[in-house]
Amino acid sequence: MRIAIGGVVHETNTFSNVKTTLASFTTWEWEQGARVVERHRGVSNYLGGMIARAEELQIELVPLCSALANPAGIIESSAYETLKSQLLLSLSEAGPVDAVCLSLHGAGVVEGIDDMEGHLLGSVRSRIGQGVPLVATLDLHANVTEAMVAAADALLGNHLYPHTDSYDKGWEAMDLAVQMAEGRIRPVMHLQKLPLLIPPSTTNLSPAHEVNERCAKWESERRMLDCVFFHGFPYTDTPDVGVSVLTVTDDDKDLAVRAAEDTARYIWHMREQFKQPLLTPEEGIQEALAESNFPVIINETSDNPGGGTPGDATHLLQAMLDANLDKACFAFICDPEVVESAIAAGVGSTIEVKLGGKTDSLHGEPVTIKAYVKCITDGKFVATSPMGRGAVLDHGRSVRLQAGGLDIIVSSVKGQVKDEQIFVLHGIDITRYRLVALKSSQHFRAAFEPLAARIITVDSPGLTTLQLHHLNYQRITRPIYPLDEVDYD
Ligand SMILES: [Zn+2]
Repeated sequence: MRIAIGGVVHETNTFSNVKTTLASFTTWEWEQGARVVERHRGVSNYLGGMIARAEELQIELVPLCSALANPAGIIESSAYETLKSQLLLSLSEAGPVDAVCLSLHGAGVVEGIDDMEGHLLGSVRSRIGQGVPLVATLDLHANVTEAMVAAADALLGNHLYPHTDSYDKGWEAMDLAVQMAEGRIRPVMHLQKLPLLIPPSTTNLSPAHEVNERCAKWESERRMLDCVFFHGFPYTDTPDVGVSVLTVTDDDKDLAVRAAEDTARYIWHMREQFKQPLLTPEEGIQEALAESNFPVIINETSDNPGGGTPGDATHLLQAMLDANLDKACFAFICDPEVVESAIAAGVGSTIEVKLGGKTDSLHGEPVTIKAYVKCITDGKFVATSPMGRGAVLDHGRSVRLQAGGLDIIVSSVKGQVKDEQIFVLHGIDITRYRLVALKSSQHFRAAFEPLAARIITVDSPGLTTLQLHHLNYQRITRPIYPLDEVDYD
């Protein structure tokens, strides 16, 4: 049996003024043929899981290509055409395959195409015809569409946020593709969309945790293959944005509909509970300083580069400098100019620079600091978080600056902090710090919850703010809760 694998992954924040180009993909990931397997074998992600299951079953893998760019603004049409053409070309060159298994996200937006994954799945379906199983994984933040459901035989999504189950979902996707190819199952899907936006909500805590328990109850039904609560990606201004439930059963449409409708109703009744307490950076710092145990983690959720923000917001940084902290550290601000200045000055020198706040006016002004250059690194490390363990990350040349009692890591390439390795790379043992600040919404929890005395989330103006009514939506389907009152029951 021969099964093709590949993927195109992007989470598009349409409010960002930074377009996603072909160079954005080549910076992060743009692999073809055997390199796809070499890069992902043994890694805790979707493709890693697909490869593992195929090798367990001694299936011949046909690697097509894999592309991934850090979340940012809309994808340039020419970039998408290049990726899609290469995927389809490699599929044609592969000859007959028994199934296709893809790693996608579900919140990709291209210039002129609101639903990248629906478009891509449709193109792949046209190429392979109706008889070849097409299975794909989606991120929990997918804005799932009927076009995706119509084109694919089965779509599997993360249940967990942080997405520590990506490997498992990839493994399941390959397993289902094989079972379909052997004629042992016949997946049927049902998509139930809700007129609901929710801010980033970890499944480690209520209320998303309870929704997952409801999904698990339905999954105990014999013919239920997957029941997923997709949170949607609220920073995408397209008509299909929002929460949905997607069920996959083995040839049981009635069960798929009942489970999806029941879970959707359950989410709707809990909708108020998704509102989170809001603290400003200044309030968060004061709460952290009142703690007797350490380290206290402060996450700046509103500038989460994993959700398409610039990664150079200075709201929390400025508040930390103003508070004149001791034993505090921050990872990381993306500012290639400052990195170059620090490298030019050299380790051991003191520089005066304007740091951050350079991408747009929303994320704060540049902060003028006088700082000591403690060390310079290549910005490369291997992820140890349960989410993506084994992946090689490269944030470009990076430096550790010291301003008073605050250590600040500055990178050349933006990114979300998912584990402590960026601190380790720069010689920082966070367990010896009182206050550890980082840019992430929820993924950091997978690695930092066991290390933290307490986690405090702060929200300031930013493209991944928890305050969705601050976003200038133009194209989403209204009415939608919590922006509008909605009569859904
Ligand atoms: Zn996600």
